[in-house]
Amino acid sequence: MIWFTEYQTKNTGLTVKVKEAKHIQSKYQEILLLDTYEYGKMLVLDGAVQTTERDEFIYHEMLSHPALIKHRNPERVLVIGGGDGGTVREVLKHPEVKQVHLCEIDEEVIKVSKEHLPTISNQLDNPKVSIFVEDGNKFLDERKSYYDVILLDLSDPVGPAEALFKRAFYEKVKGALREGGIMAAQTESPFLQELYFKTAVKEIQKVFKYYGTYLAFIPTYPAGMWSFTIASDDVDVTKTDAKELEKLKNLNTKYFCDKIYTSLFSLPKFVSDLIK
Ligand code: SAM
Repeated sequence: MIWFTEYQTKNTGLTVKVKEAKHIQSKYQEILLLDTYEYGKMLVLDGAVQTTERDEFIYHEMLSHPALIKHRNPERVLVIGGGDGGTVREVLKHPEVKQVHLCEIDEEVIKVSKEHLPTISNQLDNPKVSIFVEDGNKFLDERKSYYDVILLDLSDPVGPAEALFKRAFYEKVKGALREGGIMAAQTESPFLQELYFKTAVKEIQKVFKYYGTYLAFIPTYPAGMWSFTIASDDVDVTKTDAKELEKLKNLNTKYFCDKIYTSLFSLPKFVSDLIK
């Protein structure tokens, strides 16, 4: 019997019973594809759980839909990271989207996901999608005022994603958005990764005029409490109007819904205190 533990801090972790494990060493990271009893297939990078078949919908819906709904016409979307394809799948649920660019540093993540996680990666070959196997930080040096929505679907701020949680990178994200542009990022766990969370959110706050942080319950992420931050220089992302609620009605989702959307920024007190 195999058990896998993801060490979330020195003192705690998530343990799952595994039927089968595949191991691949890519140029950037150690990739584990685990077939687990409780969560289905699980993708693990450098020891950190990235996604599982059972709970992936929560993360991918919550990263994508608030930003896409708040944008008045999201035609051009960029996803940085996200090689499993779950965010791309959610983005394509919005009929206004004409073009999706995915910039993932590690080709192996895309390959493994296409082969073993078809329910997550199934839109990666959609004709609206172009894939760039590049470092997101460098990729943005070449792109100015182009995208309507940029989604930062990155692994933790250690290893290849480290620079992509810093102010200089968020400045590049802002520069790559065209007028009315909105970005959203996964900003870690406010409970078990307090420092990662605070740092990422505060850096975003320094760069954009309007911003808001929201949470979702994701069972396989540290402490189950996960955060996202949405930001823009042109759109007051903290406001909601009737048109947005209308758009939301037509989305086929399992977690994201009107009740969550209308109270998106209702944070527990300790969480808002961390990012005041
Ligand atoms: N849902 C996830 C989480 O919070 O754990 C993120 C999942 S997604 C698989 C993260 C992806 O970001 C990985 O495939 C990783 O290779 C990619 N990544 C890390 N650093 C990157 C960089 N500098 N440029 C582009 N992609 C990067």
